[in-house]
Amino acid sequence: LAVGANPIRLAIAGDGSDDIHVVNSLIDYRAFRENLAKRKDKRVVILGAGLIGCEFANDLLHSDYDVTVIDLAPQPLGRLLPNHVAEAFQTNLEQAGIKFALSTTVEKVTKINDGEDYAVTLANGQTLVADIVLSAIGLQPNTALAKSADIQTSRGIITNTLLETNQPDIYAVGDCAEVNGTLLPFVMPIMQQARALAKTLSGQSTAVHYPAMPVAVKTPAAPLTVLPAPLDVDVNWETEEFDDGMIAKAADAAGTLRGFVLLGTTAGKQRLTLTKLVPDLIPAQI
Ligand SMILES: Cc1cc2nc3c(=O)[nH]c(=O)nc-3n(C[C@H](O)[C@H](O)[C@H](O)COP(=O)(O)OP(=O)(O)OC[C@H]3O[C@@H](n4cnc5c(N)ncnc54)[C@H](O)[C@@H]3O)c2cc1C
Repeated sequence: LAVGANPIRLAIAGDGSDDIHVVNSLIDYRAFRENLAKRKDKRVVILGAGLIGCEFANDLLHSDYDVTVIDLAPQPLGRLLPNHVAEAFQTNLEQAGIKFALSTTVEKVTKINDGEDYAVTLANGQTLVADIVLSAIGLQPNTALAKSADIQTSRGIITNTLLETNQPDIYAVGDCAEVNGTLLPFVMPIMQQARALAKTLSGQSTAVHYPAMPVAVKTPAAPLTVLPAPLDVDVNWETEEFDDGMIAKAADAAGTLRGFVLLGTTAGKQRLTLTKLVPDLIPAQI
C-alpha cells in the first residue's frame, strides 16, 4: 500500500468555501496557479503556518503577491520549533513582507464583488479580502483501503520496521504508513523504506533504517533546517546566536543531541556536522 495522504479540510461556512484550494498533487498545483494567474489583484490568504503554508507564502511573496498566513497556533511551525526560534523565523518572514494572523482561524469565506473576491472572516473578528484562499493545514494518511481489508490502522497504516502490516504479504510505505509508531511524511524516509522493502521482497528480510533526517524548509527569507527531537524524549534547548540567525540544539538528560534547528545561512553550515551527532531513529540492522 502506497496510497499517500489526503489534505485535511476544515468545515468553513460561506458560499466561497468550496473555492478554497489545497495542493497535494501536480493537478492541484496547476489548478491553483491557473486560478492565481486569472486574478487581477494579488491578495492570497493561506490557512496554516506549517511547512507547506510558510513555503508557499515565501514563494508567492517572490512574485509580488500580498500574502497573509493564518494559524490557530500563536507561532508559525508551532510543532517543529521552540518558541524563541519560531519568533525569529516569524520576524524574518514579516520583514520580508509576509503578514501573519495567529491564534485564530477562518470561520467564513464569502464571495464578494460579483464573485471576483472573497471576504475571509476570522474568529478574532478581523475580515480580510482575498483573491484566492489556499488551505495547508496538514495531511491525513489515507487509511480507507487498509481498513476495508482489516488492516490495523492508527494515525496511519500500522507497520513494523519490516514495513509489514498485520495481514500477511501486505506492506505499507510512504505518507500512508505509520512505521514503528512514527509518521514521517517526507521523501527521505520513503527512500529508506523503498530500499529496505525492495530487499525484503527479493528474499533478504530487511528492516528499515532511519538515520537522523533533517528537513530543509524552503523559505529563503528565513532559511531553516529542522531535525525534530523524538516526541517521547524530554529535551533541554541550548541556543547559539549569529548575526543572521541561530542554532538551537535539543539535548536529552544524558546530554546526547536529539534534535536541532538551524536558522539562517551561518547556522545552516552546521547541518552535516550536527546530523552526525544525532542517534538513528531506527538503527541499521546488523
Ligand atoms: C506542497 C507539498 C510540498 C512538499 N514538499 C516536500 C519537500 O520539500 N521535501 C520532502 O521530503 N517532502 C515534501 N512533501 C511531502 C512529499 O511530497 C510526500 O511525502 C510524498 O509525495 C509522499 O509520497 P507517497 O507516494 O507516499 O504519496 P503520494 O505522493 O500522495 O502518492 C499516493 C498516490 O496513491 C494514489 N492512491 C490513493 N488511493 C489509492 C487507491 N485506493 N488506489 C490506487 N491509488 C491510490 C493517489 O492518487 C496518489 O497518486 C511535500 C508535500 C506537499 C503536498
